[in-house]
Amino acid sequence: MLTELQVAVLGGDARQLEIIRKLTELDAKVYLVGFDQLEQSFTGAVKEKLEDLPFDELDAIVLPVAGLQPTGEIETVFSADHLRLKKEMLMKTPAHCIIFTGISPPVLTKLAEQTGKTLICLFDRDDVAIYNSIPTAEGAVMMAIQHTDFTIHGSSVAVLGMGRVGMSVARTFNNLGAKVKLGARKSEHLARAIEMRLTPFSIEQLPQEAESLDIIINTIPSLVITAQAIAKMRSHTLIIDLASKPGGTDFQFAKKRGIKAILALGLPGVVAPKTAGQILAGVLAELLKKDGLK
Ligand code: NAP
Repeated sequence: MLTELQVAVLGGDARQLEIIRKLTELDAKVYLVGFDQLEQSFTGAVKEKLEDLPFDELDAIVLPVAGLQPTGEIETVFSADHLRLKKEMLMKTPAHCIIFTGISPPVLTKLAEQTGKTLICLFDRDDVAIYNSIPTAEGAVMMAIQHTDFTIHGSSVAVLGMGRVGMSVARTFNNLGAKVKLGARKSEHLARAIEMRLTPFSIEQLPQEAESLDIIINTIPSLVITAQAIAKMRSHTLIIDLASKPGGTDFQFAKKRGIKAILALGLPGVVAPKTAGQILAGVLAELLKKDGLK
């Protein structure tokens, strides 16, 4: 249980509702900032104005998954208020108070450094990344269905990258009956591809492979789908780029060549916001329980 812990949830989207639900179920006292348009209510949670928060009593602050906007504002879909987390506010919090976020943009990292606050980025955790790879793979299937006029079954699909997302995506498309090739640079990743009954290739060989592919799904956050590879693709080839901004595709050249290339970000929040919220809520609650914070 999280009895006696005081947690402020500042802004966010539907994923935050699962976090609020979990924290209140575990008996934490939860302050909601940026939820004035939310009709749903949670026993144990109170709506509060940012400036009225009891900062000196907070054990934890939960920010939206994107952390802060580049402007320093806190994004919230449940309020029209402009919320800004200020240095003076964090300075009032007890030394043990932790800030939780999904990712940390430079503006948030700087704020945490300036105020000496511990910042936990949930998306940096292996467990969260692996859990999240499940809705991400389902989102990739959705994109493939929406943007092609042929079945996944029997089509030639290349998945680039054998990390947490790449492995789940490759397995999912393989299970749907696609002929899956796996592009990676490390020999252990190519070996794992063989074990998974995929066809491995060195990522450098993508230009040679490109002509045979119907769909390419990239998970490598580096420019790997180059103009050289795109030049070899057939006109119906679909590129689904899952890697974080700016992706790993030469989008300009793809456009010039008339190849459909989509940067599909934030899929867990799009296809399964409830599950995506539950993943974050579960890990967050475990961290709060384990450390007890005080
Ligand atoms: P990960 O576990 O770190 O995997 C990344 C993979 O990329 C690794 O296999 C890595 O292999 C490979 N790689 C990196 N740089 C490379 C290069 N220059 N050449 C060849 N291979 C390279 O990351 P992840 O959790 O799978 O996430 C992958 C990407 O998807 C990230 O950008 C993440 O932010 C994003 N993501 C997107 C969504 C979405 O909804 N679109 C959801 C979740 C995650 P090495 O070991 O050889 O470096």
